[in-house]
This record gives sequence, structure tokens and C-alpha cells, in this order.
Amino acid sequence: MATNRTFTMLKPDAVENGHMGKIIDMIIQSGFEIKAMKYTRLSTEQAKKFYEVHAERPFYGELVEYMTSGPIVAAILEKENAVADFRALIGATDPAEAAEGTIRKSYAESKGRNAVHGSDSDENAVIEGKFHFSANEIF
Ligand code: UDP
Ligand code: MG
Repeated sequence: MATNRTFTMLKPDAVENGHMGKIIDMIIQSGFEIKAMKYTRLSTEQAKKFYEVHAERPFYGELVEYMTSGPIVAAILEKENAVADFRALIGATDPAEAAEGTIRKSYAESKGRNAVHGSDSDENAVIEGKFHFSANEIF
């Protein structure tokens, strides 16, 4: 069953480059409601676990290093068709391939340092949300 929720992180490059406010505004203006939000920093252990599915990929080490390099904003978002609509709003993994007007086209530095995360399924949205938030932090 679709939950109408997705999970996002504004990644360290987005925070470092001062794009946090503009990205949050784009998310709200696109019709997503913020159900939970936190300014935090991933430990190496957390980043490894979060990106576990990519453990065998050549970029895994670099990805973990980058994702722990500074603070992030983690959030749970709600909207009808949240997962697919949010993936459309963020654009392709590589900003060079992302459509005009998407968050990654506007703010990502590169395929690795790509400003924002978006869950790829309803199931993962729930898992990723629980990874960062306890029940009393979700509104
Ligand atoms: N990534 C990378 N190099 C690649 C592919 C991915 O550094 O060739 C990083 C990038 O930060 C990406 C994350 O690993 O957002 C997770 O990869 P995935 O394929 O799941 O892309 P996404 O779902 O974030 O678009
Ligand atoms: Mg992914």
C-alpha cells in the first residue's frame, strides 16, 4: 500500500554551499508537507548502513566519506504519490542528466555530490524514515 510519504536528506554539499533554505522552499512549494525534520550529521557507521545496498560499488568508500563530511538535513515528506513525485523533483542522479528546474540540476555539484537524497520506493521510505526518526518526532 502506498504510504504517500518519502524520506529525504539534504546532503553535506547542499548545506555547505548555502542551498539549504532554497531547497526546503522548493520542496514546500512543490506541495510536500514536512512530517519530520532534523539537522544532524551521520556517523561513519550510520552512513555505511544507510548505503549498504551500494557496499560492493566502487564509489561506496567515497560516498560514505562524503556523507559524513558535514551536517545534513533529514526529513520525512508527505504528498500524494510522494516517492515518484519527489524523485521527479530532484532529477537524475547525475546533475548533467537532470531535467531543467530539478533540485539536482539547480544545486548538485556532481554525480557523487548531488545535493539531495530521495527514497526509491514506499518500502525504503519507511525504512529510511525510521532510521532517522522515532515515532514522537514524526508529526
Ligand atoms: N553515487 C556516486 N557515483 C555513482 C552513483 C551514485 O557517487 O556512480 C552516489 C550519489 O551520491 C548517489 C548515491 O551514491 O546519490 C546513491 O546512488 P543511487 O544510484 O541510489 O542514486 P540516487 O537514488 O541517489 O539517485
Ligand atoms: Mg538510490
